[in-house]
Amino acid sequence: MENCLFCKIIEGTIPSACVYQDEKTYAFRDINPAAPTHVLVVPKTHCSGLSAVDELDDATLAACLRTVKKVAEQEGLTGGFRMVSNCGAHACQSVPHLHFHVLGGEQLSEKMV
Ligand code: 5GP
Ligand code: ZN
Repeated sequence: MENCLFCKIIEGTIPSACVYQDEKTYAFRDINPAAPTHVLVVPKTHCSGLSAVDELDDATLAACLRTVKKVAEQEGLTGGFRMVSNCGAHACQSVPHLHFHVLGGEQLSEKMV
């Protein structure tokens, strides 16, 4: 998808700190971390967000969740972690390419928002 920031990161036009990738997914460090570990997991196929997830095949969607788990293991988040996906304006989604935030490495707030 032209002019999509995360598509450009996936194709390498824009640099990123990759922590894991496979055929269907790409995981990289958030440029503005909100926790000691803050990684973004994205499908390599463009999809604007959770509300457009019907565009993605089931294998790619499942691969995203497996990558979240792999990243948590690789980052040593044995104490736990949180996965967040903001969708649309009310959730303040700022990049319209589906992404899962993986947050951990410290005690996170009880509050979700
Ligand atoms: P959202 O607000 O859409 O849920 O999350 C977008 C995330 O992308 C934000 O946490 C933001 O810090 C991150 N981000 C925005 N631009 C870049 C970038 O160029 N590189 C990286 N690694 N992260 C980015
Ligand atoms: Zn994209």
